[in-house]
Amino acid sequence: MRNAPSPSSDRAWYSPHRIVISWMALATLVGMGGCGGPTKSVTGPGDPPTTGACRQFSVGATPLFPPQLPCGAPGPTTAGAVSSLNSFWGGQVQACACLIPQCIGTIGAVFPFDPARIYYDRDQLTYFDRVSGSTVPSDIWLAHEYGHAVQLALRLQVRHTELQADCLAGFYLGARVCAGTARQTDILATFQTFCFAGGPPGSTWFNPGVHGSCPERVSAVQRGLNGYLGGLSPGASCPL
Ligand SMILES: [Zn+2]
Repeated sequence: MRNAPSPSSDRAWYSPHRIVISWMALATLVGMGGCGGPTKSVTGPGDPPTTGACRQFSVGATPLFPPQLPCGAPGPTTAGAVSSLNSFWGGQVQACACLIPQCIGTIGAVFPFDPARIYYDRDQLTYFDRVSGSTVPSDIWLAHEYGHAVQLALRLQVRHTELQADCLAGFYLGARVCAGTARQTDILATFQTFCFAGGPPGSTWFNPGVHGSCPERVSAVQRGLNGYLGGLSPGASCPL
């Protein structure tokens, strides 16, 4: 039913952008509400708080034209996950189940020519759901892809495109912790899937589009998670 997970993930599909707007655009996004102030110390995954408002943002990534590739209707779980991401980032990103051979074996992809749609391999996400016993890791993989939509919407110029997407995914994971919809076991399962999809160590220092090794990816997700729970902005959390 499923294909073997692809360590290369969406790497082959995503071309990093080098355009104009800097991290300032993301750093100046204003959060609403709070889930721990800037002085709160968060050093690792713990029991999630379940009270209080959780910050959301207004990036506004929205499709401006029809899908540029065959776009399958997402299942209810994926549709719900992307809807939650849209609420978090203030966007209208759409999910497309992959219908073309090039997608098979990837986890997901966001294309520069179709920057507000996430094309995903449903079998991969189904696999993560099954091995994790949780839908949170798949949600955070979608959040990684959504991170690319954020990068494209803001035309971010970053040093490590993929690790920043991991960090932004972790930032969203922080919101899930804040909302009480991700628990410690979900966080650990998420780390495991990102570790699993890690590449060879030492390759990111010269190639900004490389996903990163297991510890680099987990560290990036952790950094975003801590940033959100510590009350930081996305830009301050993920200046990779
Ligand atoms: Zn990516």
